[in-house]
Amino acid sequence: MTQDPTQREAARRRLGVLGWPVAHSRSPAMHNAALAFLGMDDWSYQRLPVPPALFLQTTRALAQSGFRGANVTIPHKEAALALADSASASAEEIGAANTLTFGEDGSVAAENTDAPGLLAALGLSPRGMSAQILGAGGSARAAAFALREAGAREVKVWNRTPARADALARELRAQPVAAPLAADLLLNCTSVGLVRPAPGSKSGVEPSATDAAELNQLALTFDLVGEYSYVIDLVYGSGPTALLAAARRAGARALDGLEVLVAQGALSFEAWTGRSAPLEVMRRAARDQLERGQPRAGR
Ligand code: NAP
Repeated sequence: MTQDPTQREAARRRLGVLGWPVAHSRSPAMHNAALAFLGMDDWSYQRLPVPPALFLQTTRALAQSGFRGANVTIPHKEAALALADSASASAEEIGAANTLTFGEDGSVAAENTDAPGLLAALGLSPRGMSAQILGAGGSARAAAFALREAGAREVKVWNRTPARADALARELRAQPVAAPLAADLLLNCTSVGLVRPAPGSKSGVEPSATDAAELNQLALTFDLVGEYSYVIDLVYGSGPTALLAAARRAGARALDGLEVLVAQGALSFEAWTGRSAPLEVMRRAARDQLERGQPRAGR
């Protein structure tokens, strides 16, 4: 039987996260908790493990299979932008999309909520501030774009592979640096801290040799961490990273990557459902999953 347009629209209540691998993702727990809290029982959010070779055809098929939208994580963010029929100006400039919304006609619209999510999680305006970004991958690009758009005075970029920092800086009007420099804000947008050999040190406890080695990978020392007034680490886990622990010991404000994850997820949720995202419910769901011993990860 053919569905009328209203029925078809009502049936499009599936959401998910496209990645490869995607088993580690906190997004299903976070979004399903939000849907349950709001009584949206006929909606669901699932993992969508899709290898790169199948990304294009699978994503196009989702649009025809009752899906309203999908988050996109490693390694598909650039491919998501490339396949979209339309994209926001920010996704175009960042060069990556983390949120796809499917139209009833099968069209795909791309958005990047990593950038506004970071700004929302910051809890202050970076206008007039200086920022030092570490890393030159997708999240560093979103951070550089967000800070610049929000009026940061200068955005410096350091990366282990300098040529990538040079390219990011050229494309997003930032400043490449050979080593991290003192600034108001420090943002770790590398994956350093993601895999740790032992449980992380806690704020207020003496730093370990592992912590020093982790900072060393970021070309930082404990003294240099004390030069920033606000330290943001996009990596998160069940305890603070060595960088966040060092920042807290130095008396700096510190922001855990989980807050950025929740903020970007909330923006995607609102775009798909038109409902206000229950932030505390999403935060608790993501945190509970971490505390059940899942390894550190991104989206
Ligand atoms: P990406 O595009 O793969 O970039 C990885 C970056 O990490 C590159 O700059 C890379 O440097 C650097 N790197 C990797 N290993 C390193 C090492 N041992 N020493 C120094 N630098 C190293 O990844 P991404 O998407 O930007 O994500 C980066 C991190 O942010 C990941 O841990 C991810 O989980 C996290 N993340 C969190 C959120 C959130 O919502 N909280 C959102 C997105 C990402 P080279 O260029 O030299 O390889």
